[in-house]
Amino acid sequence: MEDVNIKEIFENIYEVDLGDGLRRIATRSIVKGKKVYDERIIKINNEEYRIWNPNKSKLAAAIINGLKIVPIKRDSKVLYLGASAGTTPSHVADIAEQGMIYAVEYAPRIMRELLDACAERKNIVPILGDANKPQEYSHIVEKVDVIYEDVAQPNQAEILIKNAKWFLKKGGYGMIAIKARSIDVAKNPKEIFKEQKEILEKGGFEIVDEVDIEPFEKDHIMFVGIWRG
Ligand code: SAM
Repeated sequence: MEDVNIKEIFENIYEVDLGDGLRRIATRSIVKGKKVYDERIIKINNEEYRIWNPNKSKLAAAIINGLKIVPIKRDSKVLYLGASAGTTPSHVADIAEQGMIYAVEYAPRIMRELLDACAERKNIVPILGDANKPQEYSHIVEKVDVIYEDVAQPNQAEILIKNAKWFLKKGGYGMIAIKARSIDVAKNPKEIFKEQKEILEKGGFEIVDEVDIEPFEKDHIMFVGIWRG
């Protein structure tokens, strides 16, 4: 056991003080003895905590940068769009340990890595699919409490709205990591964020939190919205 201080800052999300002055967060691993990426594991009282790297996960970056609303809870059902190799989804699965994560990824090559990450996490359902076409996975995904989206596409706000119409409970939450350069390389990122926020609001979301995730990711913002439909 290492000499650490640990404190729960959101449901199943912990702040870990290793005594070196760096702010770290972690989730309690639901699969002991298994890393998903090269995350550091800390053992405390027979539990393993996976240090959540903000350079590899925009959700960790947003939390470290002061996100006030983290709607993913112990029993949440989450639709995760743009699951990639499973880095952030694995932490989301640690948080929603009694819930379910529907993890959509459209690149078959990356899907293989996602399957590895999911192999022992029984609360992740990997789905090879295009987030632009929710009807194609509507036979698998049920109504969810949260949609988390990180697809880095020009129409990412529209994708969130489209999926919310299919799957998000009224009063549920949408979280979206917006990458300005995926939308327009020439335009001022602040302008882009304002426009994307307007699209989300017109589409039915009440934006209740937003945080810039620099310096971990350049020109990225995380929006959290409540689905009013
Ligand atoms: N969210 C991941 C994490 O934090 O571990 C990283 C996601 S990465 C920035 C974006 C991913 O979205 C890529 O793996 C890409 O293949 C996927 N993607 C892009 N467009 C998509 C779409 N229309 N449907 C599903 N996945 C998509």
